[in-house]
Amino acid sequence: MKDLVIPICHLERLFDTCLWAEGPAYLAASDCVVWSDIPNNRILQWVEGLGTRTLSAASNHANGNTIDGEGRLVSCEHLSRAVTRREHDGTRTVLASHFDGKRLNSPNDVVVKSDGTIWFTDPTYGILTDYEGERADPEQDGCYVYRLQPETGEINAVIRTMVKPNGLAFSPDERRLYVSDTGVSHQTDGPHHIKVFDLVAGEKVQNERVFAEIAPGVPDGFRLDEFGNVWTSSGNGVQVFSPEGEFLGRIAVPEAVSNLTFGGPKNNRLFITATTSLYAIYVGVRGSTRRSAF
Ligand code: MG
Repeated sequence: MKDLVIPICHLERLFDTCLWAEGPAYLAASDCVVWSDIPNNRILQWVEGLGTRTLSAASNHANGNTIDGEGRLVSCEHLSRAVTRREHDGTRTVLASHFDGKRLNSPNDVVVKSDGTIWFTDPTYGILTDYEGERADPEQDGCYVYRLQPETGEINAVIRTMVKPNGLAFSPDERRLYVSDTGVSHQTDGPHHIKVFDLVAGEKVQNERVFAEIAPGVPDGFRLDEFGNVWTSSGNGVQVFSPEGEFLGRIAVPEAVSNLTFGGPKNNRLFITATTSLYAIYVGVRGSTRRSAF
């Protein structure tokens, strides 16, 4: 862990009036972070040297965000129960809202693979109450992980074995897919772990196994660094695991962490969403995240 952090660097609080901060994504060209404040139905944007503004005051209770290969913001929306893309002209495109003729539950987190396909999780958190979306009965038979081909709209359920699939990320070589399961939120004995799968031909997964159990709290969202270490949210800060699943250490954060992303001009700054706040801390390694062109 000593090689992964910088001892003289401390945690900075960049913003602090969210109800539930989630979904941080870093846009390199404008050196800014966008993230969701789900209950407040807004997407915020923090710009180095300027501060925070509201990017969207009607975000459809957006949750997870990411940047695609062309630098466009891709978001999971609870209220519309859809995955959407913010185009360069500011218009919004719905990429996926249904599977097998039925509405999705409430897309939660999303990642774009280097081949342009969009992978996202679809638990029910956004339709359980009116707080983070709108209460509704699920139409799907379960909570799945999907692979979406944005050009054609083709959508496939690639994982059907999880209780509440939540965060997800690829290994730097994209040979492995990590997906967290936060089922303990609604089942006393439910899962609070990250699973890892091997990719088959880049489009299917196999060899499902538990990568790491996370406690206290849950592994809501997570990212990998350049060496394949997994940096995950938890109830007591950011926990870091080696590619083999060995616990390496922790960055203490004073609020429960929901998600994080690497960013900054050198991709060596960790931006952390945690309950009411956006935090940042410089670390000793770079994120594996492919840098956006935007
Ligand atoms: Mg999440």
